[in-house]
Amino acid sequence: DIPVLTIDGPTASGKGTLAAEVARALGYHLLDSGALYRATALAALEAGVDADDEAGLAALAAGLPLRFEPDHVWLAARDVSDDLRREDVGAMASRISAFPAVREALRQRQLDFRRLPGLVADGRDMGTVIFPDATLKVFLTASAETRADRRHKQLISKGISANLATLLQDLQARDARDRSRSTAPLKPAEDAQLLDNSALTIEASVAQVLEWWAQ
Ligand code: C5P
Repeated sequence: DIPVLTIDGPTASGKGTLAAEVARALGYHLLDSGALYRATALAALEAGVDADDEAGLAALAAGLPLRFEPDHVWLAARDVSDDLRREDVGAMASRISAFPAVREALRQRQLDFRRLPGLVADGRDMGTVIFPDATLKVFLTASAETRADRRHKQLISKGISANLATLLQDLQARDARDRSRSTAPLKPAEDAQLLDNSALTIEASVAQVLEWWAQ
């Protein structure tokens, strides 16, 4: 059996950083499932596929020529790593991820990441839907204010101006959408370990997850 460790949580909770660090510490593969939704969103925006065209979006998702490398995502011959982080791409990803056909199209692609020696998967439904038999499931939480503040610092450090109040509003709207949607709503798996990292450093969060893993 190939071990799987899932890390789910809301937007800007620090899942991505935590998952990458834990994968590195364990020498495991990494699945950033949000990148699959973001890449589908980017491709849809560029190909002019309508945000309401569920079948068209699902077909696009199933056929995306994606390639993952540490810290880089390629769409065919193009490095789209920076484009995937765009706010418009994130907003589109959030919209299209509500469609069951899109989620189903991306399901098998996510399962394919399960390879030896093991996998760390981060997203919204890794522990509930995609890898229900995962060895360890972690559900991250952090207050909306903490998350908005982190996103704000991230943008500023990249030289992008951003308004904290607007970021907080966007984040709360996305949280509400992610939690209330009928397909794969954001919620912890019943057997998930809850980790509130509002007051934790990344190192402390990594240490906690590795401690659970070792148990
Ligand atoms: O985590 P990230 O912000 O990259 O995810 C982008 C969007 O993709 C989220 O707003 C979420 O709605 C969706 N998503 C999802 N299921 C996942 C990962 C991401 O629905 N497993």
